[in-house]
Amino acid sequence: MNGLANGHADAVSERLQIINDEKKFTPDLTAQLEKWGLQDAGFGYNIVAVFGSQSTGKSTLLNRLFGTTFDVMDETRRQQTTKGIWMCRGRDMNIMVMDVEGTDGRERGEDQDFERKSALFSLASSEVLIINLWEHQVGLYQGANMALLKTVFEVNLGLFGKNATGGRTLLLFVIRDHIGQTPLANLQATLTADLMRIWESLSKPQELADRQLSDYFDLSFTALPHKILAADKFESEVLNLRKRFTDKDSSDYLFKPAYHKRIPADGVAFYMENIWEQVQSNKDLDLPTQQELLAQFRCDEISTVALSEFNEQAKSQKRPVEGGKVVDGLGELMRTWRTEALVRYDRDASRYHQGVYKRKRADLVAALDAVLTPLFLGQLKNLHKTCLVAFKKELLDGLRGEGYNFADVVSKARERCLGRFEAAAKEALIEGPEWTYEDELVSLKEEVRSVADQCRKDETKKMVNQIERTFKKQISEPIELALTKAAPDMWDDILRTFRQTLDKAEASYLTKATSFNCTDEENATSLAVLRRRAWQALREKIDEQTAEPVMLAKLRGHFEERFRYDATGVPRVWKPEDDIDGAFKVAKDQTLDLIPLYSKIQPTDASLEYALPADSLVAPTDGSSSEDYDFAATLVIFSETKGLELTQKFRREADAYYVEAKRSTVASIAQ
Ligand code: GDP
Ligand code: MG
Repeated sequence: MNGLANGHADAVSERLQIINDEKKFTPDLTAQLEKWGLQDAGFGYNIVAVFGSQSTGKSTLLNRLFGTTFDVMDETRRQQTTKGIWMCRGRDMNIMVMDVEGTDGRERGEDQDFERKSALFSLASSEVLIINLWEHQVGLYQGANMALLKTVFEVNLGLFGKNATGGRTLLLFVIRDHIGQTPLANLQATLTADLMRIWESLSKPQELADRQLSDYFDLSFTALPHKILAADKFESEVLNLRKRFTDKDSSDYLFKPAYHKRIPADGVAFYMENIWEQVQSNKDLDLPTQQELLAQFRCDEISTVALSEFNEQAKSQKRPVEGGKVVDGLGELMRTWRTEALVRYDRDASRYHQGVYKRKRADLVAALDAVLTPLFLGQLKNLHKTCLVAFKKELLDGLRGEGYNFADVVSKARERCLGRFEAAAKEALIEGPEWTYEDELVSLKEEVRSVADQCRKDETKKMVNQIERTFKKQISEPIELALTKAAPDMWDDILRTFRQTLDKAEASYLTKATSFNCTDEENATSLAVLRRRAWQALREKIDEQTAEPVMLAKLRGHFEERFRYDATGVPRVWKPEDDIDGAFKVAKDQTLDLIPLYSKIQPTDASLEYALPADSLVAPTDGSSSEDYDFAATLVIFSETKGLELTQKFRREADAYYVEAKRSTVASIAQ
């Protein structure tokens, strides 16, 4: 017969032998508490235990009061119940009920070892200890019950002695088979007197000599009618008593908060097992130490669970970050994971010893941040990279086509790049760890500057090249013309044209350069390069126009103009009386005079003489040449030897013209 009418054993009605008859503690309590649905109860549960002689109806009472399923002795068989401690969950109540069996070894002449140990164990965990006894046992001061109570008091002094406020327990005396002849008040008085006597007789340690029973225990007394002789009254009284365990609002509610041992439900299994181990090995049970041990163990466990869930979450973004990806909203994710882990930890661990809880929390925070920090740093690195790439692209896009303002393009791209970096870096910052993105920002700014500098240099170069091309185009025709006309002040014209065109080129450079934010030094360098290139372009044009065949053609043309045409430009028809020799000599000499004119750049007007400034002469930094520019050498168009060679070649051609002229007169005579 048990307290459950339907009797089928669902998880909630399951019972567990937490200490077996070999005094071993069960490994299954945590799992059982889970099944009972008590693991997450926090402090929202109570523990009650029962003490008393065998077969005094303890199990029967518990089953009635709490709807538990403890074994009840079968009247017909009267089998011996085994020693041990059983636990059940109260039905529809957050109550752990412990049925302590075999506490009357004394009566059976057995060792009192278990009695003492189970008393220690029960006191260290229970809020209410039910002392169950028959009415006729009351007043039998020498009886088993009194010996048991003596044990309980002694053990309690050891446990809570120094700390009277820390471990108050309620002793609830339940007097069974109360016939009613002796009123409860009298029974209560008798029991109280006995308790006092026992208390006095205890050999207390010196420092606790003055302590009273009431410093540690509250006493409460109740009686139940005979279960068989007054069955109805028995049942109704049991119900009344039950109410005192369950109805928090009732004035005689038994589970006062002061009795709670403040062990969070999820730590009860570990705590009890530890207590039992200490008890078993006869070690002093120091409850504060036990609570700290429990806290360390549980806080570690809770922290491990929180950390592993956190690690699972963090892992999801590890690969993308390591792979160079900028994870959108990483900060928000990290904040959420971190907060969730700490909330989980706080929820379960904050109920434990505060010092331990806080210490382990700091460890957890460090562990969380050790996982997050590389993510943050990786995000910054990736952000840095992508922002720089975007900056370069934006620069190039901005510099495509015509009519852009370089400085504007750069400053806009720079602003956007740094803005994007800062916004995303700020998003990734989370409260707690002392992170900063300052260093990364500084290095990004430096790289942006160096990219912009390089770009400006390239752009400047492009611009100088463009100006050089225009320059070449502009000088081409006037130079060709001047060199063809071969006037005595030919070089004056050429140098004048050169200067005017160069002035225009320089002006054009300076106009464009203002948008490049070039330094004065860079401008000076660019202009020096531009001037030298201009001079080189001029020299190339002159070289082209004074190459040997061109030169010979020019001389020929010059000569022909003077020898084969008269002053008015009409072709000459030689007559015998004409002075061919004289005309030939004049034309030839005039033509030969041109060779020294062409051989050197030398204006008639000395003020037009040009010399490249010194900074245009240094070896170019682009590596195209390692030698300084020899400007003086460039003034010479061809050497004297080359001049003589030209003279000879021209003479031969002129002689041919002379012979042809002579022949033509002979031919005209012959006609
Ligand atoms: P325990 O050994 O103290 O747990 O006692 P049990 O609950 O197993 O009960 C032992 C025997 O006493 C059983 O046969 C019960 O039927 C009987 N019993 C239980 N409660 C009472 C009671 O209040 N009065 C009497 N007279 N017998 C009871
Ligand atoms: Mg029993």
